[in-house]
Amino acid sequence: MFMYCAPIWSVKLEAKNSIEMLNAVFNSYMKRYLGLPKYAHGAAIHYYCRTWPLYYAVRYLASEAVTKLSFPPNSLNGHQLSFANATPLPPYQPEIEMDQDFPRKSVYISRNRRFRMRCFRELFNIDHFKSCQVVKFHTRVTYDCKCIYCGQHATRSHTCTLTTMQ
Ligand SMILES: [Zn+2]
Ligand SMILES: [Zn+2]
Repeated sequence: MFMYCAPIWSVKLEAKNSIEMLNAVFNSYMKRYLGLPKYAHGAAIHYYCRTWPLYYAVRYLASEAVTKLSFPPNSLNGHQLSFANATPLPPYQPEIEMDQDFPRKSVYISRNRRFRMRCFRELFNIDHFKSCQVVKFHTRVTYDCKCIYCGQHATRSHTCTLTTMQ
């Protein structure tokens, strides 16, 4: 449904919040599929799933569609289609937007729902708040993040040996 006339409207779509709204449609679907909360980092999801923000996909498919349009010779009387010359977007590089501590590795996306969700919740450090001394809501690990069990810096990869002994 988004592809309907995409060559025409996607070029006009320049306002930052309309692009964000479009991307949010696909991102919230992805988050539900992976069992991640709304605040989970969009770029990291695209990195691990090798997907694009919807805006990128639409623009890309739209530019493909334009090159396939053919008109009878001289039918345009030298006029140019305004959307035919849209500047292509730069390649999408989610790594740039991701927090440094996300592991840069390819991840297997299981078809098993429970397994997939557990894997992604771990990857996105969703349970961090349960063992972090910082009570205020935060999505990024900072220097103040200390493990409530052992007092060490609660990094993304910190697995506490003290909790497993209990
Ligand atoms: Zn923390
Ligand atoms: Zn610990």
